[in-house]
Amino acid sequence: MELIKISDRIWFSMYETERDRPCLGYVRGDNWSLAVDAGHSDAHVEEFYEALAKEDLPLPSLTVITHWHWDHAFGMHKIHGLSAANGRTNRHLTEFARMLEKEGVQKFLDMDASIQKEYAGGREVVIVPADIVFEDELVLDPGGVSVRLFPSISPHTDDTTLIYVPEEKFLFLGDCISGVFPTWERDPERTRHLISTLKLVDAEKMLGGHWLPMTKQEVLEELEEDMQIPSV
Ligand SMILES: [Zn+2]
Repeated sequence: MELIKISDRIWFSMYETERDRPCLGYVRGDNWSLAVDAGHSDAHVEEFYEALAKEDLPLPSLTVITHWHWDHAFGMHKIHGLSAANGRTNRHLTEFARMLEKEGVQKFLDMDASIQKEYAGGREVVIVPADIVFEDELVLDPGGVSVRLFPSISPHTDDTTLIYVPEEKFLFLGDCISGVFPTWERDPERTRHLISTLKLVDAEKMLGGHWLPMTKQEVLEELEEDMQIPSV
């Protein structure tokens, strides 16, 4: 797994389409470090930690979750340290775990070919909620850099957490810029809200779960083009 350095504070692992693995983010503080998203499964977490070790980066003390989707959150049971998510994300995870208990894990595997590939060979599906639950905002101080977690309306899910590193002018988006699974259609009203939120964030670069880093302008253009709003 390839780890890409953005700055002396920020790294990420490259996304993979075949197993629908998103980019996993990493913020190194002077005192402790955090990861952005846990990944698709225990295997994804393990490969990410191997990539961190190769770069001599400490394992994350905290993993923050951008939204509840399997490819971002189902590795949570295997992480080092604690996890944090907003209340909606935790409720979605708990509901989904209950549904699989009742209806069987095959229902999850049948959702997409990429899920079958991630869980090939009978890999166990384990869904756990986050250890730390916050509503609205959470500000973290890992030392020498700060991290602000805050919600946004998004066309992707109703539990988006944006993760902002002001000193680096960097924003982790999760999948908030895409539409709903599996049609990827964006609701115009929710997209409009997201555009307003993103415009207020003083970020130069933004990283989504399944994209290369983009400038703020590129992200806004992508969303505005879909809405057919002339870009300013
Ligand atoms: Zn998603």
